[in-house]
Amino acid sequence: MSRRNKIYEGKAKILFEGPEPGTLVQYFKDDATAFNAEKKGTLSGKGVVNNHISEHIFTALDAIGIPTHFIKRLNMRKQLIKAVEIIPVEVIVRNIAAGSLSKRLGIEEGTKLPVPLVEFCYKSDELGDPLIADEHALTFGWADEDEIDALREYAVRINDFMVGLFSAIGITLVDFKLEFGRFYDGDDCMVILADEISPDGCRLWDKKTGKKLDKDRFRRDLGGEMEAYQEVARRLGILPSADVTEIADHKKKEG
Ligand code: UDP
Repeated sequence: MSRRNKIYEGKAKILFEGPEPGTLVQYFKDDATAFNAEKKGTLSGKGVVNNHISEHIFTALDAIGIPTHFIKRLNMRKQLIKAVEIIPVEVIVRNIAAGSLSKRLGIEEGTKLPVPLVEFCYKSDELGDPLIADEHALTFGWADEDEIDALREYAVRINDFMVGLFSAIGITLVDFKLEFGRFYDGDDCMVILADEISPDGCRLWDKKTGKKLDKDRFRRDLGGEMEAYQEVARRLGILPSADVTEIADHKKKEG
């Protein structure tokens, strides 16, 4: 897969040492997990599609002034990124009630929220990423006050942008998850967007039919995951005609 040293392997990605200090290579796997990795599977070609979708969105966010870890896409499954210290606070933005919000508060899935809701969760697989308040992050030193402000401000701006991006291609952005990191530049430390943005971490509903075009297809055994992910990529103008499954199989052999 790579001759570079592996730094970290997560559920959907692997991080390798980068070519220069302060850089890493992020490799997108085909592995899919849900319910805190209780359900596992492989979606052939998912890594390729997510790499491209994430590149597309991070590049667009960079263009509107959101700092991100993305440097460039290296090939079908890899991107060069800036090394950051991940802030252990996952940021969830919701426009419509679904998933854990509906379950937790008994709000019917599909209910439009009057304003976007930003939630924080503690990033811990062991604990199942529990919902937290700002105060927990401050008390336990997971993020300081300025960082919390930055997370919230970036999350709202990213949501504004992404709602428009998806709306233009007939998709409702229901909710999504973001991760941020601390990027050190000499004595300076700034908060930048990290991880990925793809149908793995977003809820995307087709506007006309309500069809789910995201990981809920896998979570809820709906089938057709790859067709849905490819549909999102196709509408975004990425991978217009390619059969990603074929590319994935071919590229896997190349490493
Ligand atoms: N999400 C994610 N990783 C997580 C938790 C949530 O990517 O560890 C995304 C999920 O895909 C959805 C949004 O964040 O788009 C909100 O998820 P929710 O809290 O409803 O949790 P779920 O129902 O997925 O358990």
